[in-house]
This record gives sequence, structure tokens and C-alpha cells, in this order.
Amino acid sequence: MLCGIRASDNYKVLASSSEKVHGPYLCPKCRQEVVLKKGKIKIHHFAHKPPVTCSHGQGETEAHRNCKIGIYNALITKPNVTALELEKDFGPVVADVYCLINNVPVAIEVQRSNLSVNNITQRTEEYAKLGINVLWVGLYNEAVQKQIEDRRCSPKAWEKWCHAAYFGRVYYWYQGDLVLPIHFAAHKLYVEETEWYDSSGNHQSAGGYERFSKRYKTPVTTSLLSIAHAFQPRVKQAWHQGTVSIPNCRLYVDRLSKWW
Ligand SMILES: [Zn+2]
Repeated sequence: MLCGIRASDNYKVLASSSEKVHGPYLCPKCRQEVVLKKGKIKIHHFAHKPPVTCSHGQGETEAHRNCKIGIYNALITKPNVTALELEKDFGPVVADVYCLINNVPVAIEVQRSNLSVNNITQRTEEYAKLGINVLWVGLYNEAVQKQIEDRRCSPKAWEKWCHAAYFGRVYYWYQGDLVLPIHFAAHKLYVEETEWYDSSGNHQSAGGYERFSKRYKTPVTTSLLSIAHAFQPRVKQAWHQGTVSIPNCRLYVDRLSKWW
């Protein structure tokens, strides 16, 4: 967690702007004392003392913290962004980054590996009840870059969910308030042509055509998009197809027309 409560004045403070001498600091969720981690390499943060019984901040990686603080630091410079807050607690959900963009309430949620599709669905439903538009983002990393270069990927469950929810795109945080949208297009495989003679001596052949892969998709990207400027709120009705189930939700979706 990037924010803690300073016990002396009950203020929510950033780890990066806090000092150990001004502690103790408390977890904003469970009010247990947390440790201020101010190393030279890792992003400054707070951590529960073991044994950890609170889920706040659980499963966060350095990449995840880097994404949250990167988005926060970029949005704080945008004149059309107000009420900006990191790790804003709404009770049933804690938004990684919350703000008003042109007075539209937006929660930015960074996907993490320990979040199941059920968790994502539940959190999205909670935001809809709160009247907040949610923007789920994955992390742009070497694996995503390689998939783009190879023009082939096998989307994970959360990526399939986001693709279905966000009208055929998944967003990956790149830097600042910039995300890269990716569309998963059908992936064609060429079935090699083969020829042979059967036991009766008749000539047979097969293959020599293209078919769509069930497993793979072709990632199709476009330019980087600014969260502060390139998105709009959209209400989506509940939708089910195959194993993917999207609840009634309020989403924050880019304004581009289809680029694929
Ligand atoms: Zn806690």
C-alpha cells in the first residue's frame, strides 16, 4: 500500500512523503500498525506486520505500485482532473486511483495476478452501484511486448473478460497516464497441404487452407491513449457469452472507433 494513516493526526499520507520519526502509521482499512518501507531501490510503501490478516495491499507487486504511483503523478498535473486520491476506500472496494475527470467519477483498477475474474466482476458491480466508472488496466511488460511482436497471444481469463466488457479492447498501462489498447483479432493458422495414396492406391490430399485458431488471437494495437483525455463513461448492460459473464456496469472506455 502506498498510503497509510499517520496516527498522530489521523491524516492519510503517502509513504514517499512520510518519515519513520513521524510514525506510527496505521493501515487505512484495518487500523493495525504498518511498517514504513523506505528502501533505496523499491517504491516507498507501507506493509502490514506479520501475521497478515488484512487484505488491504495484499498481492501488490513493485510493478503494480509503480503503475499506481505513475498514474497518480501524471493525473495530478492535469487541469481537468480533480478529487484525485490514491487507494480511495469506498467500503466494499478500494480504488487504486480515484478521481473526477471532467467531473466524471472514475476508478482506475490495476489488474494483479491474485485477482480472479470473480473478484473483477464483483468490484465492477460495486463501482456501478456507487455510480463510478471503472477503468481496468493490465501492466505493459516484456511478455505483452513479445506477444505484439510475435503477432500471437493466448489471452488469460481476465484479458478475455476485459475484452468482452470494453467493447473489444484491453488496456495496458505504459507510463504516466498513457495506456496501450489492444484488440484480440482472430488468429489464422495455415494447415499444411499433405498428399498420400490410400490402401487402394487412390490419390488423397488434405490441408492447404487457413483456419481460425481456438487458442490464439492476434493482438492489434493502435496509438497510446491518455486516461485524462481519450476516454468517456459508458454504461453496459449485463452480457453473457460462453464462459464470460459481464454484469451491468459503468465503464470508462476510449473514444476511438474500431481500429482493427
Ligand atoms: Zn490492514
